[in-house]
Amino acid sequence: MVNLSAFIAFHARQRPEHTAIIYGEERVSYKAFDQRIRRLAALLKQRGIGKDDIVAVFMKNSPAFLEVAFATSHLGAVFLPVNFRLAANELAHILNDAGAKLLFIDEELTSVCEIDQHVVVVDAMAQHDSRRLSSPDWPLPDAVPRRSDQLFRLMYTSGTTARPKGVMHSYENFYWKCMDHVIALNLTAEDKLLTVGPLYHVGAFDLPGVAVLWRGGTICLHREFNAEDALASIERHQLSCAWTAPVMLNQILSVESPERFDLSSLRWCIGGGEKTPESRIRDFTRVFTSARYIDGYGLTESCSGDTLMAPGMEIEKIGSTGRALAHVEICICDEQGKPLPSNTDGEICLRGPKVTRGYWNDPEKTAESFFDDWFRTGDIGHLDGDGFLFVTDRRKDMILTGAENVASSEVENVIYLLPQVAEAAVVGLPDEQWGERLVAVVVLREGKTLSYTQLEHHCRGHLANFKVPKQLLISEGLPRNPSGKILKRELREMYAQPSFDSSHP
Ligand code: ATP
Repeated sequence: MVNLSAFIAFHARQRPEHTAIIYGEERVSYKAFDQRIRRLAALLKQRGIGKDDIVAVFMKNSPAFLEVAFATSHLGAVFLPVNFRLAANELAHILNDAGAKLLFIDEELTSVCEIDQHVVVVDAMAQHDSRRLSSPDWPLPDAVPRRSDQLFRLMYTSGTTARPKGVMHSYENFYWKCMDHVIALNLTAEDKLLTVGPLYHVGAFDLPGVAVLWRGGTICLHREFNAEDALASIERHQLSCAWTAPVMLNQILSVESPERFDLSSLRWCIGGGEKTPESRIRDFTRVFTSARYIDGYGLTESCSGDTLMAPGMEIEKIGSTGRALAHVEICICDEQGKPLPSNTDGEICLRGPKVTRGYWNDPEKTAESFFDDWFRTGDIGHLDGDGFLFVTDRRKDMILTGAENVASSEVENVIYLLPQVAEAAVVGLPDEQWGERLVAVVVLREGKTLSYTQLEHHCRGHLANFKVPKQLLISEGLPRNPSGKILKRELREMYAQPSFDSSHP
Protein backbone atom coordinates (compact mmCIF):
# COMPACT_ATOMS: atom_id res chain seq x y z
CA MET A 1 0.00 0.00 0.00
CA VAL A 2 1.54 3.31 -1.03
CA ASN A 3 -0.72 5.65 1.01
CA LEU A 4 1.28 8.06 3.18
CA SER A 5 -0.56 6.82 6.29
CA ALA A 6 1.06 3.38 5.78
CA PHE A 7 4.54 4.48 6.87
CA ILE A 8 3.21 6.40 9.85
CA ALA A 9 1.30 3.26 10.94
CA PHE A 10 4.52 1.26 10.50
CA HIS A 11 6.54 3.59 12.73
CA ALA A 12 3.64 3.68 15.24
CA ARG A 13 4.00 -0.12 15.55
CA GLN A 14 7.81 -0.04 15.70
CA ARG A 15 8.38 2.93 18.03
CA PRO A 16 4.99 4.15 19.24
CA GLU A 17 6.32 6.70 21.71
CA HIS A 18 8.98 8.20 19.42
CA THR A 19 8.23 11.85 18.59
CA ALA A 20 6.99 12.51 15.07
CA ILE A 21 6.23 16.24 15.46
CA ILE A 22 7.39 18.95 17.85
CA TYR A 23 5.21 22.05 17.73
CA GLY A 24 5.75 24.70 20.39
CA GLU A 25 5.17 22.94 23.69
CA GLU A 26 3.34 20.08 21.98
CA ARG A 27 4.95 16.73 21.12
CA VAL A 28 3.06 14.30 18.90
CA SER A 29 4.24 10.68 19.11
CA TYR A 30 3.98 8.33 16.12
CA LYS A 31 1.18 6.46 17.92
CA ALA A 32 -0.79 9.69 18.48
CA PHE A 33 -0.13 10.90 14.92
CA ASP A 34 -1.37 7.59 13.51
CA GLN A 35 -4.58 7.86 15.55
CA ARG A 36 -5.15 11.48 14.58
CA ILE A 37 -4.77 10.62 10.89
CA ARG A 38 -7.38 7.86 11.14
CA ARG A 39 -9.78 10.04 13.11
CA LEU A 40 -9.49 12.82 10.57
CA ALA A 41 -9.96 10.30 7.76
CA ALA A 42 -13.28 9.39 9.49
CA LEU A 43 -14.32 13.05 9.27
CA LEU A 44 -13.37 13.21 5.59
CA LYS A 45 -15.41 10.08 4.93
CA GLN A 46 -18.39 11.59 6.73
CA ARG A 47 -18.03 14.56 4.39
CA GLY A 48 -18.25 12.27 1.39
CA ILE A 49 -14.56 12.28 0.47
CA GLY A 50 -13.39 9.19 -1.39
CA LYS A 51 -10.75 8.20 -3.88
CA ASP A 52 -9.58 10.83 -6.39
CA ASP A 53 -11.50 13.64 -4.66
CA ILE A 54 -9.45 16.76 -4.13
CA VAL A 55 -8.99 18.10 -0.60
CA ALA A 56 -7.41 21.55 -0.28
CA VAL A 57 -5.74 23.29 2.65
CA PHE A 58 -5.32 27.03 3.10
CA MET A 59 -3.42 26.84 6.36
CA LYS A 60 -0.30 27.98 8.12
CA ASN A 61 2.07 25.37 9.49
CA SER A 62 0.64 23.16 12.24
CA PRO A 63 0.34 19.44 12.97
CA ALA A 64 -3.21 19.72 11.57
CA PHE A 65 -1.75 20.63 8.15
CA LEU A 66 0.17 17.34 8.10
CA GLU A 67 -2.83 15.41 9.45
CA VAL A 68 -4.96 16.60 6.52
CA ALA A 69 -2.24 15.60 4.04
CA PHE A 70 -1.94 12.11 5.51
CA ALA A 71 -5.68 11.54 6.11
CA THR A 72 -6.44 12.60 2.53
CA SER A 73 -3.96 10.06 1.25
CA HIS A 74 -5.39 7.42 3.64
CA LEU A 75 -8.70 7.67 1.75
CA GLY A 76 -7.08 7.66 -1.69
CA ALA A 77 -8.01 11.30 -2.21
CA VAL A 78 -5.67 13.98 -3.63
CA PHE A 79 -4.04 16.63 -1.45
CA LEU A 80 -3.99 20.26 -2.65
CA PRO A 81 -1.93 22.65 -0.51
CA VAL A 82 -2.56 26.31 -1.35
CA ASN A 83 -0.31 29.25 -0.46
CA PHE A 84 -2.08 30.97 2.46
CA ARG A 85 -0.75 34.37 1.38
CA LEU A 86 -2.81 34.34 -1.82
CA ALA A 87 -5.74 36.74 -2.25
CA ALA A 88 -9.37 35.56 -2.44
CA ASN A 89 -9.52 35.58 -6.26
CA GLU A 90 -6.24 33.63 -6.53
CA LEU A 91 -7.45 31.03 -4.04
CA ALA A 92 -10.76 30.77 -5.92
CA HIS A 93 -8.91 30.30 -9.21
CA ILE A 94 -6.87 27.40 -7.85
CA LEU A 95 -9.84 25.71 -6.15
CA ASN A 96 -11.88 25.96 -9.35
CA ASP A 97 -9.05 24.91 -11.63
CA ALA A 98 -8.36 21.87 -9.47
CA GLY A 99 -12.03 21.06 -8.81
CA ALA A 100 -11.49 20.85 -5.04
CA LYS A 101 -14.32 19.20 -3.10
CA LEU A 102 -13.35 20.32 0.39
CA LEU A 103 -11.20 23.11 1.82
CA PHE A 104 -9.57 23.21 5.26
CA ILE A 105 -8.84 26.75 6.36
CA ASP A 106 -7.29 28.29 9.47
CA GLU A 107 -9.77 30.32 11.48
CA GLU A 108 -7.52 33.41 11.23
CA LEU A 109 -7.59 33.20 7.42
CA THR A 110 -11.35 32.83 6.95
CA SER A 111 -11.82 36.44 5.81
CA VAL A 112 -10.26 35.38 2.49
CA CYS A 113 -12.96 32.91 1.53
CA GLU A 114 -16.70 32.45 1.75
CA ILE A 115 -17.64 29.78 4.24
CA ASP A 116 -20.03 27.17 2.90
CA GLN A 117 -20.56 23.46 3.35
CA HIS A 118 -17.37 22.73 1.40
CA VAL A 119 -15.19 24.53 3.94
CA VAL A 120 -13.88 23.15 7.24
CA VAL A 121 -12.54 25.77 9.60
CA VAL A 122 -9.61 24.63 11.71
CA ASP A 123 -9.60 26.28 15.09
CA ALA A 124 -6.07 27.55 15.57
CA MET A 125 -6.72 28.32 19.24
CA ALA A 126 -7.46 24.68 20.03
CA GLN A 127 -3.80 23.73 19.88
CA HIS A 128 -4.06 23.75 16.07
CA ASP A 129 -5.76 20.45 16.48
CA SER A 130 -8.13 19.07 13.89
CA ARG A 131 -9.24 16.34 16.34
CA ARG A 132 -11.95 18.62 17.64
CA LEU A 133 -13.68 18.38 14.29
CA SER A 134 -14.40 14.68 14.48
CA SER A 135 -16.50 12.44 16.70
CA PRO A 136 -15.01 9.50 18.65
CA ASP A 137 -18.10 7.45 17.63
CA TRP A 138 -17.29 7.42 13.93
CA PRO A 139 -15.70 4.13 12.77
CA LEU A 140 -12.07 4.57 11.73
CA PRO A 141 -11.84 3.81 8.00
CA ASP A 142 -9.33 1.42 6.44
CA ALA A 143 -6.86 2.85 3.96
CA VAL A 144 -8.05 2.87 0.34
CA PRO A 145 -5.18 1.21 -1.58
CA ARG A 146 -3.50 3.29 -4.27
CA ARG A 147 -1.06 2.40 -7.05
CA SER A 148 2.24 4.22 -7.29
CA ASP A 149 1.30 5.85 -10.61
CA GLN A 150 -1.82 7.40 -9.09
CA LEU A 151 -2.10 11.02 -8.01
CA PHE A 152 -1.03 11.88 -4.49
CA ARG A 153 -0.96 15.69 -4.70
CA LEU A 154 -1.66 18.73 -6.85
CA MET A 155 0.73 21.56 -6.13
CA TYR A 156 0.66 24.97 -7.77
CA THR A 157 4.01 26.57 -8.65
CA SER A 158 5.20 29.74 -6.93
CA GLY A 159 4.11 32.02 -9.78
CA THR A 160 7.48 33.74 -10.02
CA THR A 161 7.49 33.95 -13.79
CA ALA A 162 3.82 33.38 -14.64
CA ARG A 163 0.47 32.47 -13.09
CA PRO A 164 0.81 29.36 -10.87
CA LYS A 165 0.44 26.05 -12.74
CA GLY A 166 -1.05 22.91 -11.16
CA VAL A 167 1.69 20.29 -11.01
CA MET A 168 0.57 16.65 -10.73
CA HIS A 169 2.55 14.50 -8.30
CA SER A 170 2.11 10.74 -8.19
CA TYR A 171 3.08 8.51 -5.28
CA GLU A 172 5.97 7.32 -7.42
CA ASN A 173 7.27 10.89 -7.77
CA PHE A 174 7.04 11.45 -4.04
CA TYR A 175 8.61 8.18 -2.85
CA TRP A 176 11.55 8.36 -5.26
CA LYS A 177 12.13 11.86 -3.94
CA CYS A 178 12.12 10.50 -0.37
CA MET A 179 14.53 7.75 -1.35
CA ASP A 180 16.92 10.14 -3.10
CA HIS A 181 16.94 12.52 -0.15
CA VAL A 182 17.45 9.74 2.39
CA ILE A 183 20.43 8.43 0.41
CA ALA A 184 22.01 11.83 -0.23
CA LEU A 185 21.53 13.21 3.27
CA ASN A 186 22.03 9.99 5.18
CA LEU A 187 18.76 10.53 7.06
CA THR A 188 18.08 8.30 10.06
CA ALA A 189 15.25 7.87 12.57
CA GLU A 190 17.31 9.97 14.99
CA ASP A 191 17.25 13.03 12.72
CA LYS A 192 15.31 16.09 13.85
CA LEU A 193 14.47 18.58 11.14
CA LEU A 194 13.77 22.27 11.66
CA THR A 195 10.80 23.19 9.45
CA VAL A 196 10.32 26.95 9.37
CA GLY A 197 9.33 27.29 5.71
CA PRO A 198 5.65 27.15 4.75
CA LEU A 199 4.41 23.59 4.23
CA TYR A 200 2.32 24.57 1.20
CA HIS A 201 5.60 24.95 -0.71
CA VAL A 202 7.68 22.09 -2.08
CA GLY A 203 10.78 23.37 -0.26
CA ALA A 204 9.46 22.87 3.28
CA PHE A 205 7.23 19.85 2.62
CA ASP A 206 9.62 17.89 0.40
CA LEU A 207 13.24 18.98 0.92
CA PRO A 208 13.67 16.66 2.73
CA GLY A 209 10.50 17.47 4.79
CA VAL A 210 8.24 14.47 5.01
CA ALA A 211 11.14 12.18 4.02
CA VAL A 212 12.22 12.59 7.66
CA LEU A 213 8.90 11.08 8.79
CA TRP A 214 9.21 8.37 6.13
CA ARG A 215 12.48 7.46 7.83
CA GLY A 216 10.87 7.56 11.32
CA GLY A 217 12.54 10.82 12.45
CA THR A 218 11.16 14.02 13.95
CA ILE A 219 9.94 17.28 12.41
CA CYS A 220 10.13 20.42 14.55
CA LEU A 221 7.46 22.62 13.06
CA HIS A 222 7.24 26.41 13.43
CA ARG A 223 4.01 28.14 12.55
CA GLU A 224 5.90 31.07 11.06
CA PHE A 225 9.50 31.98 10.42
CA ASN A 226 11.39 34.10 12.91
CA ALA A 227 15.19 34.06 12.83
CA GLU A 228 15.77 34.15 16.61
CA ASP A 229 13.09 31.52 17.26
CA ALA A 230 14.71 29.26 14.67
CA LEU A 231 18.09 29.44 16.44
CA ALA A 232 16.44 28.96 19.86
CA SER A 233 14.68 25.83 18.59
CA ILE A 234 17.91 24.31 17.29
CA GLU A 235 19.41 24.74 20.75
CA ARG A 236 16.39 23.65 22.77
CA HIS A 237 15.54 20.51 20.76
CA GLN A 238 19.07 19.68 19.63
CA LEU A 239 17.95 19.71 16.00
CA SER A 240 20.22 18.02 13.49
CA CYS A 241 19.09 19.52 10.17
CA ALA A 242 17.14 22.36 8.55
CA TRP A 243 15.78 23.81 5.32
CA THR A 244 15.67 27.58 4.79
CA ALA A 245 14.90 29.79 1.82
CA PRO A 246 17.82 32.15 1.02
CA VAL A 247 15.77 35.12 2.26
CA MET A 248 15.43 33.37 5.65
CA LEU A 249 19.14 32.57 5.76
CA ASN A 250 19.84 36.25 5.21
CA GLN A 251 17.82 37.08 8.34
CA ILE A 252 19.39 34.29 10.38
CA LEU A 253 22.87 35.56 9.51
CA SER A 254 21.85 39.07 10.59
CA VAL A 255 20.81 37.98 14.11
CA GLU A 256 22.85 39.84 16.70
CA SER A 257 25.34 37.73 18.71
CA PRO A 258 24.32 34.30 17.37
CA GLU A 259 26.95 32.77 19.66
CA ARG A 260 24.29 33.15 22.42
CA PHE A 261 22.81 29.95 21.00
CA ASP A 262 24.33 26.48 21.16
CA LEU A 263 23.97 25.37 17.55
CA SER A 264 26.43 22.48 17.74
CA SER A 265 23.76 19.78 17.11
CA LEU A 266 23.15 21.01 13.55
CA ARG A 267 24.76 18.85 10.81
CA TRP A 268 23.46 20.69 7.77
CA CYS A 269 21.09 23.30 6.43
CA ILE A 270 19.72 23.11 2.90
CA GLY A 271 18.95 26.28 0.97
CA GLY A 272 17.18 26.56 -2.36
CA GLY A 273 14.29 27.93 -4.32
CA GLU A 274 16.40 30.81 -5.57
CA LYS A 275 20.08 31.64 -5.76
CA THR A 276 21.88 31.97 -2.41
CA PRO A 277 24.40 34.82 -2.72
CA GLU A 278 27.93 33.38 -2.49
CA SER A 279 28.87 35.80 0.28
CA ARG A 280 26.06 34.32 2.41
CA ILE A 281 27.39 30.78 1.86
CA ARG A 282 30.81 31.92 3.07
CA ASP A 283 29.19 33.66 6.06
CA PHE A 284 27.28 30.52 7.04
CA THR A 285 30.15 28.84 8.86
CA ARG A 286 30.69 32.00 10.92
CA VAL A 287 27.36 31.32 12.69
CA PHE A 288 27.11 27.54 12.28
CA THR A 289 30.56 26.30 13.09
CA SER A 290 29.73 22.57 12.97
CA ALA A 291 27.18 22.52 10.14
CA ARG A 292 27.49 22.78 6.39
CA TYR A 293 25.32 24.76 4.01
CA ILE A 294 23.94 22.64 1.18
CA ASP A 295 22.74 24.52 -1.85
CA GLY A 296 20.03 22.50 -3.58
CA TYR A 297 18.38 23.01 -6.93
CA GLY A 298 14.94 21.78 -7.81
CA LEU A 299 11.42 22.65 -8.79
CA THR A 300 7.83 21.97 -7.84
CA GLU A 301 7.68 19.86 -11.04
CA SER A 302 10.34 17.48 -9.70
CA CYS A 303 9.27 17.45 -6.01
CA SER A 304 12.37 19.61 -5.30
CA GLY A 305 15.99 18.73 -4.52
CA ASP A 306 17.36 17.38 -7.82
CA THR A 307 20.92 18.38 -6.97
CA LEU A 308 22.57 18.88 -3.60
CA MET A 309 26.06 20.17 -2.92
CA ALA A 310 28.44 17.30 -2.07
CA PRO A 311 29.99 17.23 1.44
CA GLY A 312 33.26 19.15 1.65
CA MET A 313 32.86 20.82 -1.76
CA GLU A 314 30.89 23.86 -0.60
CA ILE A 315 33.73 26.34 -1.03
CA GLU A 316 35.74 24.61 -3.77
CA LYS A 317 32.61 24.52 -5.96
CA ILE A 318 31.00 27.69 -4.67
CA GLY A 319 28.46 28.98 -7.17
CA SER A 320 27.34 25.45 -8.01
CA THR A 321 24.20 23.76 -6.66
CA GLY A 322 25.94 20.38 -6.48
CA ARG A 323 25.54 17.14 -8.39
CA ALA A 324 22.43 15.22 -9.46
CA LEU A 325 20.97 12.82 -6.89
CA ALA A 326 20.95 9.07 -7.42
CA HIS A 327 17.85 8.81 -9.64
CA VAL A 328 17.97 12.21 -11.34
CA GLU A 329 19.41 12.76 -14.81
CA ILE A 330 20.40 16.22 -16.01
CA CYS A 331 20.92 17.20 -19.62
CA ILE A 332 21.84 20.68 -20.82
CA CYS A 333 20.02 21.27 -24.11
CA ASP A 334 19.98 23.85 -26.87
CA GLU A 335 16.69 25.33 -28.06
CA GLN A 336 15.95 22.30 -30.24
CA GLY A 337 16.53 19.87 -27.37
CA LYS A 338 20.00 18.76 -28.56
CA PRO A 339 22.45 17.94 -25.72
CA LEU A 340 25.27 20.45 -25.24
CA PRO A 341 28.82 19.63 -24.03
CA SER A 342 30.16 20.36 -20.50
CA ASN A 343 30.75 23.96 -19.49
CA THR A 344 28.30 25.25 -22.12
CA ASP A 345 25.21 27.16 -20.99
CA GLY A 346 21.84 25.86 -22.19
CA GLU A 347 18.44 24.93 -20.80
CA ILE A 348 18.57 22.61 -17.78
CA CYS A 349 16.44 19.53 -18.53
CA LEU A 350 15.60 16.79 -16.02
CA ARG A 351 14.55 13.16 -16.27
CA GLY A 352 13.76 10.57 -13.64
CA PRO A 353 11.01 9.02 -11.52
CA LYS A 354 10.47 12.10 -9.35
CA VAL A 355 9.58 14.34 -12.30
CA THR A 356 5.87 15.13 -12.83
CA ARG A 357 4.02 13.76 -15.81
CA GLY A 358 2.58 17.26 -16.41
CA TYR A 359 0.18 20.03 -15.52
CA TRP A 360 -3.39 19.57 -14.36
CA ASN A 361 -5.95 20.43 -17.03
CA ASP A 362 -3.27 21.82 -19.32
CA PRO A 363 -2.12 19.39 -22.04
CA GLU A 364 -0.68 22.23 -24.13
CA LYS A 365 1.54 23.56 -21.35
CA THR A 366 2.52 19.96 -20.58
CA ALA A 367 3.49 19.28 -24.20
CA GLU A 368 5.64 22.41 -24.49
CA SER A 369 7.42 21.59 -21.22
CA PHE A 370 9.05 18.38 -22.49
CA PHE A 371 11.64 17.40 -25.10
CA ASP A 372 10.52 13.76 -25.41
CA ASP A 373 10.84 12.51 -21.83
CA TRP A 374 13.12 15.37 -20.70
CA PHE A 375 11.42 18.05 -18.62
CA ARG A 376 12.40 21.61 -19.59
CA THR A 377 12.97 23.65 -16.44
CA GLY A 378 13.11 27.09 -18.09
CA ASP A 379 16.42 27.64 -16.28
CA ILE A 380 19.75 28.31 -17.98
CA GLY A 381 22.89 26.68 -16.64
CA HIS A 382 25.76 24.27 -17.31
CA LEU A 383 27.44 21.18 -15.91
CA ASP A 384 31.16 21.34 -15.29
CA GLY A 385 33.53 18.47 -16.10
CA ASP A 386 32.85 16.90 -12.66
CA GLY A 387 29.07 16.94 -13.14
CA PHE A 388 28.41 19.94 -10.86
CA LEU A 389 25.45 22.04 -11.92
CA PHE A 390 25.78 25.82 -12.16
CA VAL A 391 22.42 27.59 -12.48
CA THR A 392 23.12 30.75 -14.45
CA ASP A 393 19.69 32.33 -14.49
CA ARG A 394 16.06 31.82 -15.28
CA ARG A 395 15.67 32.01 -19.06
CA LYS A 396 13.26 34.93 -18.57
CA ASP A 397 15.71 36.86 -16.34
CA MET A 398 18.76 36.75 -18.65
CA ILE A 399 19.65 40.23 -19.87
CA LEU A 400 20.58 40.93 -23.50
CA THR A 401 22.64 44.12 -23.60
CA GLY A 402 24.56 45.31 -26.66
CA ALA A 403 24.35 41.75 -28.11
CA GLU A 404 25.92 40.28 -24.95
CA ASN A 405 24.06 37.90 -22.62
CA VAL A 406 24.39 38.72 -18.92
CA ALA A 407 23.23 36.51 -16.08
CA SER A 408 21.66 38.74 -13.45
CA SER A 409 22.83 36.36 -10.69
CA GLU A 410 26.51 36.89 -11.57
CA VAL A 411 26.20 40.65 -11.13
CA GLU A 412 24.12 40.25 -7.95
CA ASN A 413 26.82 38.06 -6.39
CA VAL A 414 29.32 40.88 -6.89
CA ILE A 415 26.96 43.52 -5.48
CA TYR A 416 26.35 41.37 -2.39
CA LEU A 417 30.06 41.69 -1.57
CA LEU A 418 29.44 45.33 -0.61
CA PRO A 419 28.89 45.53 3.16
CA GLN A 420 26.23 48.24 2.73
CA VAL A 421 23.95 45.88 0.77
CA ALA A 422 21.13 43.93 2.44
CA GLU A 423 19.40 42.76 -0.76
CA ALA A 424 20.04 43.17 -4.47
CA ALA A 425 18.35 42.39 -7.77
CA VAL A 426 19.66 43.14 -11.26
CA VAL A 427 17.22 43.49 -14.15
CA GLY A 428 17.33 44.56 -17.78
CA LEU A 429 15.23 47.61 -18.74
CA PRO A 430 14.46 48.64 -22.33
CA ASP A 431 17.13 50.94 -23.73
CA GLU A 432 17.37 52.55 -27.15
CA GLN A 433 21.14 52.20 -27.40
CA TRP A 434 21.73 48.83 -25.70
CA GLY A 435 18.46 46.97 -26.26
CA GLU A 436 18.41 46.37 -22.52
CA ARG A 437 20.45 48.21 -19.91
CA LEU A 438 21.52 46.68 -16.61
CA VAL A 439 19.89 48.24 -13.60
CA ALA A 440 20.78 47.33 -10.02
CA VAL A 441 17.98 47.64 -7.47
CA VAL A 442 19.46 47.61 -3.99
CA VAL A 443 18.08 47.56 -0.44
CA LEU A 444 20.63 49.04 1.96
CA ARG A 445 21.44 47.93 5.48
CA GLU A 446 20.15 50.30 8.13
CA GLY A 447 22.06 53.59 8.29
CA LYS A 448 24.21 52.81 5.22
CA THR A 449 24.56 54.73 1.96
CA LEU A 450 25.75 53.77 -1.51
CA SER A 451 26.37 56.01 -4.50
CA TYR A 452 26.37 54.94 -8.14
CA THR A 453 30.08 55.82 -8.39
CA GLN A 454 30.90 53.49 -5.49
CA LEU A 455 28.84 50.69 -7.05
CA GLU A 456 30.40 51.22 -10.48
CA HIS A 457 33.93 51.27 -9.06
CA HIS A 458 33.30 48.06 -7.09
CA CYS A 459 31.72 46.24 -10.06
CA ARG A 460 34.52 47.25 -12.46
CA GLY A 461 36.95 45.51 -10.13
CA HIS A 462 35.09 42.20 -10.52
CA LEU A 463 33.20 42.20 -13.82
CA ALA A 464 33.66 42.83 -17.52
CA ASN A 465 32.57 46.34 -18.54
CA PHE A 466 29.34 45.25 -20.23
CA LYS A 467 28.20 43.54 -17.00
CA VAL A 468 28.55 46.68 -14.88
CA PRO A 469 25.10 48.15 -14.06
CA LYS A 470 24.37 51.42 -15.82
CA GLN A 471 22.07 52.59 -13.09
CA LEU A 472 21.54 52.16 -9.35
CA LEU A 473 18.14 52.36 -7.75
CA ILE A 474 17.86 52.36 -3.98
CA SER A 475 14.66 50.76 -2.80
CA GLU A 476 12.98 50.21 0.58
CA GLY A 477 12.33 46.58 -0.28
CA LEU A 478 12.12 44.16 -3.21
CA PRO A 479 8.82 42.80 -4.48
CA ARG A 480 8.53 39.13 -3.58
CA ASN A 481 5.95 36.54 -4.49
CA PRO A 482 3.98 34.81 -1.71
CA SER A 483 6.78 32.23 -1.42
CA GLY A 484 9.33 34.99 -0.74
CA LYS A 485 11.06 34.90 -4.15
CA ILE A 486 12.10 38.16 -5.79
CA LEU A 487 9.70 39.11 -8.58
CA LYS A 488 11.93 40.51 -11.30
CA ARG A 489 9.05 40.79 -13.74
CA GLU A 490 7.46 43.31 -11.33
CA LEU A 491 10.69 45.28 -11.02
CA ARG A 492 10.92 45.42 -14.82
CA GLU A 493 7.32 46.60 -15.11
CA MET A 494 7.67 49.10 -12.28
CA TYR A 495 10.81 50.82 -13.57
CA ALA A 496 10.02 50.59 -17.28
CA GLN A 497 7.00 52.89 -16.75
CA PRO A 498 7.40 56.14 -18.72
CA SER A 499 6.43 58.02 -15.51
CA PHE A 500 9.53 56.65 -13.81
CA ASP A 501 12.41 59.12 -13.91
CA SER A 502 15.18 56.91 -15.31
CA SER A 503 17.77 59.69 -15.03
CA HIS A 504 18.03 58.92 -11.29
CA PRO A 505 20.52 58.83 -9.68
P1 ATP B 1 6.67 29.68 -11.68
O1 ATP B 1 7.05 28.40 -12.38
O2 ATP B 1 5.19 29.77 -11.42
O3 ATP B 1 7.25 30.92 -12.30
P2 ATP B 1 8.72 29.09 -9.70
O4 ATP B 1 9.55 28.68 -10.90
O5 ATP B 1 9.34 30.07 -8.74
O6 ATP B 1 7.30 29.63 -10.17
P3 ATP B 1 9.18 26.85 -7.96
O7 ATP B 1 8.92 25.46 -8.36
O8 ATP B 1 8.88 27.27 -6.56
O9 ATP B 1 8.34 27.79 -8.91
O10 ATP B 1 10.70 27.24 -8.18
C1 ATP B 1 11.58 26.55 -9.03
C2 ATP B 1 12.60 27.51 -9.58
O11 ATP B 1 13.36 28.11 -8.52
C3 ATP B 1 13.64 26.85 -10.47
O12 ATP B 1 13.15 26.67 -11.78
C4 ATP B 1 14.80 27.85 -10.40
O13 ATP B 1 14.58 28.94 -11.29
C5 ATP B 1 14.70 28.38 -8.98
N1 ATP B 1 15.67 27.67 -8.10
C6 ATP B 1 15.43 26.62 -7.31
N2 ATP B 1 16.53 26.25 -6.61
C7 ATP B 1 17.52 27.10 -7.00
C8 ATP B 1 18.92 27.24 -6.67
N3 ATP B 1 19.51 26.44 -5.77
N4 ATP B 1 19.63 28.21 -7.29
C9 ATP B 1 19.04 29.04 -8.18
N5 ATP B 1 17.72 28.97 -8.53
C10 ATP B 1 16.98 28.02 -7.96
